[in-house]
This record gives sequence, structure tokens and C-alpha cells, in this order.
Amino acid sequence: GFKESEWNDNVGYFIKKNCSPATHFESVCFQKLHVWCQPHDGIWKSGQIKSTSGENALVLLSDGSVVTVPAQELLPANADILEEVDDLVQLSYLNEPSVLHNLQCRYSKDKIYSKAGPVLVAVNPFKDVQQYGTDFVTAYRQKLLDSPHVYAVADAAYNEMMSDEINQSIVISGESGAGKTETAKIAMEYLAAVGGGSGGIESELLQTSCILEAFGNAKTARNDNSSRFSRVVQLAQGDRSYHIFYQLCSGAPDDLRGRLRLKRASDYKYLNQSDCLEIHNIDDAQKFHILMVMYISFSVTKFTNSIVFSSLGALNTVRICKEDQEHAFEMLVAVLWLGNISFLVTDKQNHIEVVPDEAVTNAASLIGCSEQDLMLALSTRKVKAGKDEVTKTLTLQQKNSFEQFCINYANERLQQHLNRHLFKLEQEEYELDGIDWTKVDFEDNQDCLDLFEKKPDGLISLLDEVSNFPKATGLTFTTKLKQHLNANRCFKEERCGTFSIRHCAGEVIYDTGEFLEKNRDLLPSDTIQLLLSCTCQLPQYFASTLLKQSQNPESKLMQSGMLACQKQTVAKKFKGQLFELMQHLESTKPHFIHCIKPNTKRIPGVFEKDLALEQLRCSGVLEAVKIWRSGYPTRMTHQEFARRYGILLPGKMACQDPLSRSVAILEQFNILPEMYQVGYKKLYFRAGQIGALEGVRKQV
Ligand code: ATP
Ligand code: MG
Repeated sequence: GFKESEWNDNVGYFIKKNCSPATHFESVCFQKLHVWCQPHDGIWKSGQIKSTSGENALVLLSDGSVVTVPAQELLPANADILEEVDDLVQLSYLNEPSVLHNLQCRYSKDKIYSKAGPVLVAVNPFKDVQQYGTDFVTAYRQKLLDSPHVYAVADAAYNEMMSDEINQSIVISGESGAGKTETAKIAMEYLAAVGGGSGGIESELLQTSCILEAFGNAKTARNDNSSRFSRVVQLAQGDRSYHIFYQLCSGAPDDLRGRLRLKRASDYKYLNQSDCLEIHNIDDAQKFHILMVMYISFSVTKFTNSIVFSSLGALNTVRICKEDQEHAFEMLVAVLWLGNISFLVTDKQNHIEVVPDEAVTNAASLIGCSEQDLMLALSTRKVKAGKDEVTKTLTLQQKNSFEQFCINYANERLQQHLNRHLFKLEQEEYELDGIDWTKVDFEDNQDCLDLFEKKPDGLISLLDEVSNFPKATGLTFTTKLKQHLNANRCFKEERCGTFSIRHCAGEVIYDTGEFLEKNRDLLPSDTIQLLLSCTCQLPQYFASTLLKQSQNPESKLMQSGMLACQKQTVAKKFKGQLFELMQHLESTKPHFIHCIKPNTKRIPGVFEKDLALEQLRCSGVLEAVKIWRSGYPTRMTHQEFARRYGILLPGKMACQDPLSRSVAILEQFNILPEMYQVGYKKLYFRAGQIGALEGVRKQV
């Protein structure tokens, strides 16, 4: 009775049409499937069904014990021959325990890269897995190695660029600390080696990463080297600010220290507030030398034992002149001194005065204004806002506030990009193999994107509208949302001041408390005036650019003494930039890498299944691959199919060609014509069909 069966893709087990639970479980048992069950603690264990009683199944676990579990809760496990396959798509059953088991087995053998269809999954090893460098580059270049690797992705991108003359993109996703930056560097290293060898612009480009990281990365609880290009100066316990501050404080030579009026990191509030000045195993002073000071380095590369002489610091390599370097350092130290400025409350109305100490003197001198002007700008009515100018209130862990809202919106767009790409690949494969392109329903997240983008009734338009009213609050905003968005299935009103969005990765609740303030992004106009009056070029330039960009002087916000930092609100600008990025990406041939962080302790060898599962779910990679293959998820070449199931045929048919034998097998087992298609090279099966044949094969 297999031909009546169908696959339930949500849970991934084999059921008969319209069958009762008892029949379902009989069919599972009948097949003697290897199964996954969760006897206790929600941890998946593999085993084999021994016998049945009522609606329960007795499962023999791999450790020899026998457990009783409801048959409904079983998931099929993959055959042993599928252990550690390179590509998750090769798994007969793509359910969660099977996928995790596969990734974990591979990880334990340092196979940190796997494929999920066209997506490369990279599990962070937190150690040197010795799979990089010249020898490996050469091996991938010459196709001597074909196991999944960042090099293979970079190689494919490079080759397609050269042969098709189409720009390529590599989209690298994953949560903080998952390995995006390292992966990008590994890809760049490959491209530089392939494109140019040891000299030239390619190797110069590689050196930019230490500059970008010094100015843009900082230590956080989740990652010692986290890319944080937008945050400024309020730190959580144990976090650090941007690396460059500490590098400068510990590495600057004496003459520079004098000119910058620089002290040690521990002397600055912005750096000492979080009780973390150093990172284990990192020498900030040495990093500073690599960044800017002329030096000679002897690096013995692992594979060639060659010695590389480099006489320039990275900043010089990219031709930032000494003067500009020094200006940049002046501003950095000015920020540190501004953070040390203290205030006195002078009366009961909480009026404030600046304490005129060395912090004021040094900050004023470095930015090139008078101490008086600086003190005035900081102590007028808008003290708090005035401070914002340098501190630009930090967005650390706001669980789900405005920043997360923007990030999740961007992720939604990237998800659609991935889905559409997979869909196109699918279509191409069908057409190439000469089979009917029956329209397979392809779920999309357009609904959710509409919720954000629709005009005038989308989240971003409504947010902008409300932000224009100076008195509006988060509550005003949620009320407005309720009025306009209740019909969208991705939107839900929550308790006051909050709402939730059904993202493709799951539901997220947003707190609108700071939405409007952050979206408006205002600066006090006094501050801009002060910066304009500075003798230093950088602050002047910054202020005049702001002025040029800002809204017209008649606007209400201007009248309240505040000036918008940009012509547009933050959300609108974000949307515009996202559109530009998407447009850019859409003009390229995309490649996808998804990074996974296997444990929160950041140690090698530990694979926490729950943590990995959550990331896999959120990434949408599995879902995309499942949907991708929802039409005919199982594919086998004629040869593979005939070899595997040929034993089910009477002996005389054995000598026929693979295609004829395949067709004979299909007929012999009455596989319904709508359940498969025959292509030039492969056979395509609806979900569950191979499971049925496997069942028969096991009994032979
Ligand atoms: P964030 O979003 O915070 O910027 P990220 O995804 O960019 O995080 P990375 O900085 O790339 O994360 O990686 C964090 C750390 O994980 C690295 O500093 C390194 O120690 C380790 N790591 C990542 N990938 C690899 C790898 N392929 N080999 C060895 N270690 C790695
Ligand atoms: Mg990073």
C-alpha cells in the first residue's frame, strides 16, 4: 500500500492518506525505520522500532536501552550510508534532528563546512582547522579538492565572473560571533591569491582589514572582535569600545603621545567604565604598530617557509598620509577627553555647569575651539542632547528596539533574495533536464515586506508620518499602527506600546519606546554651531555637511533648537540604502554562506544542538531549501537509481541500460506517474516516494 502514502513535510514522517494514528504508526513500524525520538529532556536520540503496543512504539536506542514513545512523535532517521554527507540535500529526510546530527558528526571531525543545496553552511571551529593557506588555495584552484569550503565558493564566483563576465556577490550571514568577518577574510585571501599573487593591489586590499577592524570593531560579550561600525561610547560590563582607542593608548610613541595629550586607557571614562581594558591573547601595542608605524616583519608562512618583508604600516600601505593619520588620532583622543568632562548641578532646577578641568582644556585644544565655547555648548539648556553629540547614545542590548527592527527588515529582504535565487536555480535545473516545468507553489515573504514597505500604509511610512509630530510618542505610533495594519496577517497588536511582526524566522515583539527619537535622530543646533567654529578641519567639515543635508529651517524640529542629522529620517534612509544594496546584489550572480556559532563559550569541539538549531531556524536556510525542493525534492541519476533498486527486479532485466531499468522499477512498484518525472539525466520524485522504495528494499 505504499502508493497511497504521502509525506507530511512539517513533521517529516510517513503517513497513509486519511489514516488514523494507529495506521500511521503501523506503517512506520512496518517499514522498520530507523527513527529519531525524544524520550526525555527534549533531546533527540536515534534508534530502531522494535515493537508496538497501542499507539506507542518501543524503540531500541543506540546505547542499548529500550524506551516507549508515542508513535506520532517519531521522525525518520537517515540510513547509515548517508552519515556525514557533504550536502544536506542528499539526506532522504531533511528533518531537524537529522540535519543537526549530520552537522555535528562533521564538526567533530573538523569538517566545518557543509552545503545545504547552494548555500554553504560554516560552523565556527574556534581553532585553527589548518584548512587554509597556499596549499589549499592551489588544491581548490586546481579542483584537487572538492569538499565544501569558502575557497570553493570564492572559486566558483571567480570562475563565473571570468567566464560569464557577470559581477558576483557573496552574501555572508549569521549571528554575532558566528564567523562572518573571518569568512569574508578567507574568501578575500583566496580571491587575492587567485587574482594577483603576492604583490599589487590585491595584497594591499588584504591589509585594509586590520584598519577597518581597528576603527570598526570592538570586544563584546559575544565576540572579542565584533564588527560594530555604528556604535559609540557607552559600554556594558566586560565590553570594550573600538580597538583603535586601546591600540592608540598603549602603542603610540612618546612624541605622538605628547602632541595628542594622550594618557593611558585606564585614565579615560569611556574606556575604563566597563572594567575591561585588555583582550586575552591580544597585544594592542603591537596591533598599533602593524597599523601605522614603519616596521619590518618576518613572517614565516606555514606552507612555503618564505619570509615576507613589509616596510609599511597598513595605513601607509593604503596611502593615508601622515598628516591625515594624525588628524584622525586627534579626533579620537578628543572623544576620549570629552568623555572625561564632568558636570556640577548648580541649583534645584537641575541646571548644570561644566567643571573646567584638564578634560575641557585638552578636548577644546584637540578639536580647535575655545574652552569657553565648549563649556557653553555643553551646559546650555540641552546638556543631555549636547552630550549626545559625542556619545551618540549607544545601542547595546536593547532586546528588540528600533535597531533590531531595521536589522530584521534587512534580513527579510535578504531572505527573499535567497528564496528567489533558489527558485530560479530550481527552474533552470528542471528545464536543463528536459522535464515539465509544472508551477510549484513557492512560498514567499512578500506579505511581510509589504508590511514594512507599503505606501502609505506600511510600517516605515507610518513611522515617518508620526515622527514628524514633535509631541508624538511610542504610544501614538502603536495606535496608528493598530488603525492601519490590523488586516495584515504578519502584524499583531500587543500590550500597550508594543507590537509584533511575524517574520519568516519567527515572531518578534517590538517595544516602540525609543522608536521615534531614534528615527528622528536630532542634534542640538548649538552643537553644530560650535563645530562650525572649530579651527580643525574635520569637525568643521562634519558640521557643514550636516547643515547642508539637514531639513529646511522652517521645520518644526528646527524651531525647537534641534536639527535633524540627515535630510531623511533614519528608517527612510535605511530603506533607501537597503534598496541600493539590493539593486546592486540583484545585478550580480549571488553565492550564499551562512555561519553558525556552535557554542556560547567560544571554545573548540563543543556543538550545542539547541543553539545551532535556533540559528538554522532563524537563518531560513533549511526552510528555503525545503521549499526549494518542495516540488520534486528527491533526485537521483538514472545510474544511481538503477544501481540502488535494481535488486528489486527479476534477474533478466539486470543487463538493460540504467534508464530502462529505472522505468521498469517504477512500473514494477506501481509508482503513480504524478509522483515522479524522468529527466535526461535524473529521476525526480515527489516527497516520500523514495522512502517507500527504501522500505521494500530493506525487506528484501
Ligand atoms: P560580529 O557580527 O560580532 O561581527 P562575526 O560573525 O563577524 O561577528 P567573527 O569576528 O568573524 O564573527 O568571528 C568570531 C571569532 O570566531 C573569530 O575572532 C575567531 O576567533 C573565530 N572564528 C571564526 N571563523 C573562524 C575560522 N574559520 N577559523 C578559526 N576561527 C574562526
Ligand atoms: Mg564581524
